[in-house]
Amino acid sequence: MDTARVIVVEDEPLTCATYAKILAAEGHSVRTASDAFACRAALKAAPADIIVLDLGLPGIDGLTFATELRNGGDVGVIVVTSRADVVTRIAALDEGADDYLVKPVHLGELAARVRSLQRRRTQARGRRCRVGCWTIDLDRRTIAEGDQRAVSVTRGEFDLLAKLIDAGGKIVSREALCEAMSRGDSDSDVRSADALVSRLRRKLAAEPDLIVTAPGFGYRLGPPIEPI
Ligand code: CA
Repeated sequence: MDTARVIVVEDEPLTCATYAKILAAEGHSVRTASDAFACRAALKAAPADIIVLDLGLPGIDGLTFATELRNGGDVGVIVVTSRADVVTRIAALDEGADDYLVKPVHLGELAARVRSLQRRRTQARGRRCRVGCWTIDLDRRTIAEGDQRAVSVTRGEFDLLAKLIDAGGKIVSREALCEAMSRGDSDSDVRSADALVSRLRRKLAAEPDLIVTAPGFGYRLGPPIEPI
């Protein structure tokens, strides 16, 4: 759940591509924009969780755009600036940035800051998400379809589903699923993961492609996982 929808706003093409590449390698879904106008258009097309925002942009200045983003809704902002002075850094934080990095940016640090901000955002929001037609609350351990009554699942079934959600849509091996749901129960084997998946598919049949089989390996969630 700590993967994020990121937009990198940076007018220098190589830098932009480099940031995007490292963040995509971390599993984030990354789009790029060369200025504030392009970022506005990208946000209009689809929401984002985190904006990595260069301050020195043509057109609308990064600081001004940070204010707009703060007022516009729930998006995290990490400012990247070559202006290392403390006045700029304070201004950036005051204007709504959640974090900042000074150029030249260490790529590992950029990745870590994005991870950390997304983790804080997820924790603050509570761990709720939508997967297809299902709304899943990982803290209250409930699964519901819209406003309708919650579906009753066993502890093992919920643990398995939570493990698939935590994987963010990537394939999870049957062994790893088994481990997640057995809690040290040594007699569970990989077939019990298959059995739980069958039961979950029956109970959550309103979303036919909810759990996708990766033959001979494991399972993943089919629909995108949208934090709410
Ligand atoms: Ca720039």
